[in-house]
Amino acid sequence: MAIKNAYLLDLLQRVEKRNPNEPEFLQAVTEVLSTLEPVIEKRQDLVDAGVLERIVEPERQITFRVPWVDDNGKMHVNRGYRVQFNSAIGPFKGGIRLHPSVCPSIMKFLGFEQVFKNSLTTLPMGGAKGGCDFDPKGKSDNEIMNFCQSFMTELYRHIGADCDVPAGDIGTGAREIGYMFGQYKRITGQYEGVLTGKGLTYGGSLARKEATGFGLCYFTNEMLKANGTSFEGKTVLVSGSGNVAIYACQKATEYGAKVVAMSDSNGYIYDKDGIDLDAVKQIKEVERKRIKEYLSYRPNAEYHEGCKGIWTIPCDIALPCATQNEIDGESAAILAKNGCKVVSEGANMPSTPEAIETYFANNMLYGPAKAANAGGVATSGLEMSQNSLRLSWSFEEVDEKLHNIMISIFNACDKASKEYGMEGNYMAGANIAGFIKVAEAMKAQGNV
Ligand code: NDP
Repeated sequence: MAIKNAYLLDLLQRVEKRNPNEPEFLQAVTEVLSTLEPVIEKRQDLVDAGVLERIVEPERQITFRVPWVDDNGKMHVNRGYRVQFNSAIGPFKGGIRLHPSVCPSIMKFLGFEQVFKNSLTTLPMGGAKGGCDFDPKGKSDNEIMNFCQSFMTELYRHIGADCDVPAGDIGTGAREIGYMFGQYKRITGQYEGVLTGKGLTYGGSLARKEATGFGLCYFTNEMLKANGTSFEGKTVLVSGSGNVAIYACQKATEYGAKVVAMSDSNGYIYDKDGIDLDAVKQIKEVERKRIKEYLSYRPNAEYHEGCKGIWTIPCDIALPCATQNEIDGESAAILAKNGCKVVSEGANMPSTPEAIETYFANNMLYGPAKAANAGGVATSGLEMSQNSLRLSWSFEEVDEKLHNIMISIFNACDKASKEYGMEGNYMAGANIAGFIKVAEAMKAQGNV
């Protein structure tokens, strides 16, 4: 959506000037500002309070050296980050990404998105993101532990249960969170809920592992219901084969859909009979191998090199669950041409602006990431609550709370889209509903 409002255009130009060479961050800011026009027209008080100028600038950005030694005694140096974007409605909260592509632009786009997402969850959490340009692939457990300890040896001074609570993301799963938690405890002597996604034996929450994928399907199910349809009998593509993808595949299948494809950064598998999720879990969660190993479990399936090809498979529903900008305009056009009616995002910002335009031009239902994948952070919020209470809830209790949160997120997006004259545009609804809560809190707290 093009920005017409003169104030927003001027603001965007200032953001572009101040953040050159940060394409992902500018993409995320442009998308949000392009949907806030009707809010700005109604709420001059928020403009006067300088809320918008502040919301596009992180409160604090930390960059640090992460030296670690590999199994052969060789020293490596990576660069670590924590971007504490906004703490108006609660302590900073957001994951840690370990991937060679990690850079300031990716950290800032993820931190910015997290502010609105966390606001939508209804829980008191500000937005942040962190990470490192470290590649966990092919590293031994010992190397991963050395790296995680070094990373935390710097990060610990910037985080805490009441100021900033990191979690997992790409490359950071239960193993990495465990090593980081151990090092935090060792340095500070504090046993506190400073990280979420912890193991169940030391303060983790049941259903956290499943939460983002399950939450994506709960949100998508509400969106489908509101538009007179359901998952039942639908053919679904799920990109990625990591934490989000696996549990999205599981819940979509439980809802009666058939998931026929999954991927990793090398290629994708197509199984017309429906994905055997036990095989994927064994390959990815236990053996940490590549998705092409799937053929040794299901020889009739196909494997193709290159991840983009997954979007050429005909489907009713696409659930991108791998990484940013994985669906471009061309892939979106192929999805539409092949009859795909729904795209709902498990990954953060997986659709390029051209892809999103294509969804709208083809009247597809579009579930934007900051709403559709908010179940992970929502359940991290529930993990924080359990840690504060020093209690553990059952899987069913957490899952039910998650389900209700996802229903309320969908309703908030739907309501805001209607209230601001963009019915059915859940992207605008998510941005507006997420923004207003944070903006009101920022205005109330003065010029900080
Ligand atoms: P994982 O590391 O568990 O899995 C990531 C998956 O995506 C892997 O299959 C990986 O393949 C693939 N992938 C990663 N980078 C690329 C790339 N550049 N090109 C193609 N494929 C890629 O991460 P998660 O499942 O946790 O995260 C997936 C997405 O969901 C991310 O966008 C993340 O920010 C988002 N998300 C995650 C949440 C969570 O709770 N974990 C919460 C909300 C959002 P390979 O193994 O080959 O790298």
